Formats: sequence, structure tokens, C-alpha cells
Amino acid sequence: MILQNGRYVIQGVDVEHLALQYGTPLYVYDASVITRQVQALRSAFSRLPVRILYAMKALSTPAILELLRQTGVGIDAVSIQEVELALRAGYQPKDILFTPNGVGFEEIKRAIELGVRLNIDNIPMLERFGEMYGHTVPCCIRLNPHINAGGHAKISTGHIDSKFGISILQLRHLTRIIQLWNLRVNGLHIHTGSDILDTEVFLQGVRLLFDIARDFPDLEFIDLGSGFKVAYRSDDVTTDLKSLAEGLEEAYHTFTAESGRTIELWFEPGKFIVSEAGVLLVRVNVVKPTPATVFVGVNSGFNHLIRPMMYDAYHEIVNVSRPEGPKRIYTVVGYLCETDTFGSDRLIVEVREGDILGIRNAGAYGYTMSSNYNSRPRPAELLIYHGKPLLIRRAETLEDMLRTVVSVDWNAVGALQEPQVQLEASDARPS
Ligand SMILES: *Cc1c(COP(=O)(O)O)cnc(C)c1O
Repeated sequence: MILQNGRYVIQGVDVEHLALQYGTPLYVYDASVITRQVQALRSAFSRLPVRILYAMKALSTPAILELLRQTGVGIDAVSIQEVELALRAGYQPKDILFTPNGVGFEEIKRAIELGVRLNIDNIPMLERFGEMYGHTVPCCIRLNPHINAGGHAKISTGHIDSKFGISILQLRHLTRIIQLWNLRVNGLHIHTGSDILDTEVFLQGVRLLFDIARDFPDLEFIDLGSGFKVAYRSDDVTTDLKSLAEGLEEAYHTFTAESGRTIELWFEPGKFIVSEAGVLLVRVNVVKPTPATVFVGVNSGFNHLIRPMMYDAYHEIVNVSRPEGPKRIYTVVGYLCETDTFGSDRLIVEVREGDILGIRNAGAYGYTMSSNYNSRPRPAELLIYHGKPLLIRRAETLEDMLRTVVSVDWNAVGALQEPQVQLEASDARPS
């Protein structure tokens, strides 16, 4: 979404018109930004055998998966349902890596039936897998390198207290299990968290994996997870892809020169690919001055976009109806019966009731983390593709929300016909 001749547009399409035409709240995604981001990774790593697996938990609407499939990326799936969605979107099983955490063994079995690649993240699971499949099914192993990284405690996954991965300190035990069951380990994986700024963090992980790789003769790839940072504010520093690529090339060439082996390097970005492509459009229901601030109440809340409340994430908010003019300070809140602040003390062009606001960076972990809290339906999603808006999901209705409800035949279970109301005061008539 950019400002052009005093209006916010996506690929030349007027954004306020979209809100008026399709109603709000509304998620809008710019397909050209999604493909641009994939391209940015491709060109940064063009001198390396890099594969990109899109971490679909960031945004898993089928049309988005289909769009991304056309760019040639694979999929990183974290649940068996994500695996099924990716297959339905046309991905080949070999292009899907199933990276679950703490799932039941039946999901592992199902993934193997479906023929997708498997990433195992704990030792009991690996033993069970070994006992059952041994050499017949290859697997990737998720390691926890105990590298501390990530923009927020809730999204750091590689530290010592993290539940993710098999500790690097258990490597000997791990090796024994692999030998016992004659396992074919085709990949090693680390994912240290989101919003990593320091490229040295990645490189530490890479060197470690290359080091360990010597002990894994069947290795086809090492997977470095994700954590590429994107800009949420205009002056935000982002992951320096160029210096990351240079560091990677050095580590890679050292490995290939010493070992005489070639393996692929995989990345699994989610946020990097879709975050900036998305904006959540909301309508201003009320502008409410209080002694402390001026609240702008909009027709959405953490039922639609939870990142500001859950991760204290900063999402820029702009007045789409009035892109230019004098700015005032507002606190933008939702309509839930709950404190659901999208942004405090924000400078926004003077807001009036009925204005359309745009909450930016809403492409990743927006719709996929939405809920029906307060019995609110989820919004529609639009994809702007080659200058045309495509409706890729309609808004939910109350009927949609009731589809799974089973009504109870209260008479059949012996409920009383009339409510028994105890009216003690009126029962106790004076005699
Ligand atoms: C969530 C996740 C990712 C993607 O993280 P982003 O910060 O969205 O890029 C990649 N790999 C795994 C295993 C994940 O769980």
C-alpha cells in the first residue's frame, strides 16, 4: 500500500474504495509484494543452492498458497492440517516439510502415508519412529542449538529453556539412536526464532550444523529455519540479506571444500514473505475524548489481529480516508469487551467517525491467529493480483459460526418443561 496522488493505493487500486465495496473489517494482500519478497531471497542467495520453504502458519489461505506455489517455493507445515491444505493447494509431497512440535504419533504416521518430508523434534518420537520405520523412511532432525535470538521472549525458540528441538547437548545420545535403528537422516534443522537482526546468529547456527553434518552421511540439506526481520516502522533495521549471504557462502565453501560433499541450504520464512503484503482495513465507530487521551474505537479487535496485544508488536496505523492533513494523537482500540489496543499515542491524520483506517504489516500472523471471540465473525480476505481485487475468502456469518454446533434436545434428556423459579420472598406470604 503506497501513497499516490494523495490516495492510498495497492497496484493502482484505491484502498478506501475496496473498504467501501467489500465492507470492513477486511484483510487486503498485495500479490506483487509477496512475489517480490520471494525474489529478494532468491537473488540474495543466488550463488548458493538455497531452497525456500514458506512457513504457511503465517498466512495459509489457499489462494496465497497457490500464488506462492507458482513462485517455486516449498512449504513448511507445523500441523497435519497444514500438510493437507498444502497438498490441496497443489504442492508435491516432496516439497512439503512437516515440522511439528509435541504432536501425537498418529500425525507422524499420517504424514508418512501422505509422503511428505518429516522433521522430528524430540527423542522419544525419534525412537518410536525408528522402531516403526527404521531405514525405510528418511527424516530430518530438529536441533536446538541453544543460541539466544529473537525479538520477543514468546517468539524465541532456540534458547536453553525452549521446548523446541533436540538439544545439541544430547548429540551423543541422538547418534546412538540413529545407529540403533539405522536411520536415514536426510536433513538437519534449526529455527532460532523470529525477528533476528544479528546475522551472526544465523552464521553461528550454520557453522554448528556444518560441523555436525560430517557425522551424517545421508544428509541432503540443512535447514536454517527463519527469523528474517521485516520493517514495521519506516526506520526499522531489517535483516541484512547481503551480509548474511556472504557469511553463508564462506561457511558453505569451507564445508564443501573440506568434505567434498554438496548439500542444499533451506530457509523457512513466513513473516518475511507475507507481513508487508497485508493491511487490515477497519472502520472508525467512535472518536472518544477522555481526560487521558483520545480513543479511536474501530470495528475490529484482537479477534482479528492479535499481534499488538500478544507480542506488544508495533503495527503502523494510517487514515486511509484522509491520507493527508494535520495529525493528532490517538489511541486506537478495538470493539471487544477487553483491553484491545492496536496502538497507543499514535500520530494519525485527524480521524472522524466513519473513516477507514489501515493497520499495516497485517499479512503474517493476522488472519491465521484470528478467532470468534465475542462471537464476532472473521473478516473477508482480498488479494490484489495484476491490478485486480480477487475475493479469496468471504466474511464469516453467524450461520458459519454455528455450523459445528449440535443442538441439545432438552426434553429427551429429562429437562423440566417450565423453569423452576424460587421466589422466596413472595412465597413467604404473611399469614
Ligand atoms: C514459525 C516458523 C517459521 C517462520 O517464522 P517467521 O518468523 O514467520 O519467518 C519457520 N520455521 C518454523 C519451524 C516455524 O515454526
